Amino acid sequence: MATVASLHADHSRLFMLEGHPFRTVYPVLSRRSGGLSIGINLNLDKGCNFDCIYCQVDRMVPEMEMKRLPVLEGVMEELGLLFSAMDSGTFFRETSFGALPQELRAVKDIAFSGDGEPTLAPAFREVSLAVRQFLSGREGDGGSHPILRLITNGSGLFPRDARLWTRKIFLEEGPGEIWLKLDAADRKLFDFINRSRVPFERMMQGLDQVVADLPVTIQTMILDYGSPGEAESFTAGRDLWDPLLEKVSGWAKMGARIGAWHLYSVARSPAMEGVRKVPVERLEAWAREASSLPFPVLVFP
Ligand code: SF4
Repeated sequence: MATVASLHADHSRLFMLEGHPFRTVYPVLSRRSGGLSIGINLNLDKGCNFDCIYCQVDRMVPEMEMKRLPVLEGVMEELGLLFSAMDSGTFFRETSFGALPQELRAVKDIAFSGDGEPTLAPAFREVSLAVRQFLSGREGDGGSHPILRLITNGSGLFPRDARLWTRKIFLEEGPGEIWLKLDAADRKLFDFINRSRVPFERMMQGLDQVVADLPVTIQTMILDYGSPGEAESFTAGRDLWDPLLEKVSGWAKMGARIGAWHLYSVARSPAMEGVRKVPVERLEAWAREASSLPFPVLVFP
């Protein structure tokens, strides 16, 4: 039987409602959103320009079978079915989310996340526009009013026109947030943790532009890897934290509009063995060190 803890740990993209298998839209219970989050997966080919060691996406498993409909139509059909089922109560009667207490049943966001970097998916712009219009159409109907959220490694926002588009759709045409990944601000650790095809220097330069132009929430995954003493093992320590704090402090000094900084660790099983959750005390100690920053630093162990 599902529990709140098991639902927090289950962020599977595979969802079925009344015999209809969903391909692009998936509900999850999100610790950091504070309730239900409706994920949108535009990366059905699992394409990403990062290969984070903690990523949950198992790229050894063949890509998801393409839906008969194009991505835009597929997302809108599934979103419509899901919200109708939520409005009618069928969703809670017929899925494991029925285990949720009332206070966790509100839909907090529709989040572009999924099996790869959403801003690089060819359908990103047309789908984000359509989803914003879908949310605007629900205003005033007495139901829940989720915000639109973009969860991104930022690389698709390096071109100026992509930042303008994102600001318009996610922040200006209705309530929304951008959650920006920054797991390492040191070249060696960036290469070890994010294994990106984008060079470290280009990433840092591009992220400087992103935070100068867009209000963001920063999200930092902090993990240990392997067992101490093993050749490839890694324990997150000062060599990770000091450059991160310096980078984020520098952004704050240059006037970046940072809403919050999330320090979090592994809550679900990553595809790669050896990735380990860090003790909450380490996250809390670092959050205390960052407490003079002009925004909250929040810990999600
Ligand atoms: S950026 Fe996200 S989807 Fe891409 S590899 Fe990292 S965790 Fe996975």
